[in-house]
Amino acid sequence: MSPYAAPLRDIRFVLDTLLEHRSLALPQYQDLSPDVIDAVLEEAGRVAGDVWAPLNQDGDRHGCRLEGGEVLTPPGFAEAYRAFVEGGWNGIGSDPEHGGQGLPEVVASAVQEMWQGANMALALCPLLTAGAVEALAQHGDEALKARYLEKLVSGEWTGTMNLTEPQAGSDLSVVRTRAVPDGAHYRLHGQKIFITWGEHDCAENIVHLVLARLPDAAEGNQGISLFLVPKRLVDAQGRLGERNDVNCVSLEHKLGIHGSPTCMLGFGERDGAIGYLVGEPGRGLAHMFTMMNAARHKVGIQGIGVAERAYQQALAYARERVQGRVPKSRSGGPATLIEHYDVRRMLLSMRARLEALRALALLSASEMDIARHAESTEARERAQQRVDLYTPIVKAFSTDQAVDIASLAVQVHGGMGYIEETGVAQHLRDARIAPIYEGTNGIQALDLVTRKLQRDRGAALNSVLDEVAACAASLADDPELAAWGRALRDGVDDTRRALDVVLERAADAEKGHDALQALATPMLDLVGHVLCAWQMGRAALRARAALQDGHEDTAFYRAKLASAEFVLCHWLPRGRAQLAAIEAAPALFDAPL
Ligand SMILES: Cc1cc2nc3c(=O)[nH]c(=O)nc-3n(C[C@H](O)[C@H](O)[C@H](O)COP(=O)(O)OP(=O)(O)OC[C@H]3O[C@@H](n4cnc5c(N)ncnc54)[C@H](O)[C@@H]3O)c2cc1C
Repeated sequence: MSPYAAPLRDIRFVLDTLLEHRSLALPQYQDLSPDVIDAVLEEAGRVAGDVWAPLNQDGDRHGCRLEGGEVLTPPGFAEAYRAFVEGGWNGIGSDPEHGGQGLPEVVASAVQEMWQGANMALALCPLLTAGAVEALAQHGDEALKARYLEKLVSGEWTGTMNLTEPQAGSDLSVVRTRAVPDGAHYRLHGQKIFITWGEHDCAENIVHLVLARLPDAAEGNQGISLFLVPKRLVDAQGRLGERNDVNCVSLEHKLGIHGSPTCMLGFGERDGAIGYLVGEPGRGLAHMFTMMNAARHKVGIQGIGVAERAYQQALAYARERVQGRVPKSRSGGPATLIEHYDVRRMLLSMRARLEALRALALLSASEMDIARHAESTEARERAQQRVDLYTPIVKAFSTDQAVDIASLAVQVHGGMGYIEETGVAQHLRDARIAPIYEGTNGIQALDLVTRKLQRDRGAALNSVLDEVAACAASLADDPELAAWGRALRDGVDDTRRALDVVLERAADAEKGHDALQALATPMLDLVGHVLCAWQMGRAALRARAALQDGHEDTAFYRAKLASAEFVLCHWLPRGRAQLAAIEAAPALFDAPL
């Protein structure tokens, strides 16, 4: 079992130095101080490392079991989840009006990374609850909110997201689950597959948010409504009653996240599962998007968390394993893996990318705080445009990179990496789902090029690129960092060129759709690299200033400069290489397969 230590020093650097606690400048957070946030991070790191992380490998080995309709989670999961709820962690980012602690999203996201790094399978449970809270808070009526929100916010009850059916995966317009009016509520009939934490033994009730069709509903997206279906019915006083007609039919056997029960749920196998309409009829997909956008950001963070853990394990192994000798020009003696430059290359590549991805994800979280709470409409709208732009990138780019980082962690272990006992293979297996669920990464790339970049003709991206170019200019002003500045400037130029191609292709009414599909993933990859490089350019400027000012933490800032150099000079060119694929004629994909 490998230990996990929350990357507190780097998280603090992002919050204090890169973001300068900008969320705390909002009137909403005027009573919060950096010291309070620091204490929250410290304690979350302790719980994640001491309570959740030790259960991770056993959870993978035991997996979940379905017995007599009940799902049993791995040993220790229920206790660890209850400790999390009792510690008040579930609602740290939720509105105090519903019993939450109302901390900024940027803090909740930083803490979220720790749960995901410690135990991704268990952390999925509160991740989905958080999405359910958001959807209900925004779209539920007062009666539903009064009955369900507080328990979901505290985590005493957990939430799920029920979209997928056998014929409806990426394309939810063909959802078939039916909802029939029955007095004050509805009766649901249908089957949902792949429902994460759809049934379990960690909480006394589960609140399912379910996409279904009313009897007279139109075909397609417009005919889909959103319903709340509790596992156990709840009376007007909030007391738990009998079990609803929703059951776990089977559990999936998966590549990873074995500790997370992935359920096939049957609704209405007897007389119909009682459900309540959330929001307006026919607006279910739009309402569900509230939940999905929050969850997409969190899945990006999840990728960073699990990849950080894989990195920590690889680093520890590389420090211990003796293999080969160091070159004579150094000592010529027996070498641990970490003394070989090719292994150092892998480790630096993992660490540097993680730092860049973390900085970008937390930047996006801080924009969420501004979008919700800034005083001026203009500031809120501008921040929301950035959140909309960043969300598919944080989701897809972070999770693609996470799989690669976890794969490199296996590589650092050599043959032992491929052996399950070592435990590092689990991180790769666990990470592999993140590019698939919450909208596949292909769907995220399409969201970027067909919606986010089209609706304002690239204005939000261009305004971010102006800031990236300013950072490149600041780097270029420092003789030591000038080459990094040129690299970043080139990245900006390539992205502007790529954006032109995206807009030109979209204008072709006949072939536009296929042409955009052909370049969508390369475009997301290019933008992801450039935005991450921007964050590391900013980090380099701060690190240089700290070293010049004689800051005592020289080891940290020197390491930060090394990470920045790796990102800007070794890794960014890989992203820039995507321009060739973006500019290439899409006709290649007419080729026979
Ligand atoms: C472990 C696990 C947990 C899950 N948890 C949940 C959950 O809690 N709730 C829930 O509702 N669902 C859940 N899912 C379902 C998950 O969200 C879907 O698997 C995912 O959305 C993809 O749908 P699909 O599997 O049907 O793949 P498909 O839609 O068949 O896609 C297959 C491939 O084709 C591509 N593709 C599909 N359509 C297009 C298109 N129009 N244009 C271009 N490319 C396209 C995709 O990008 C993908 O690469 C979970 C799945 C797993 C495996």
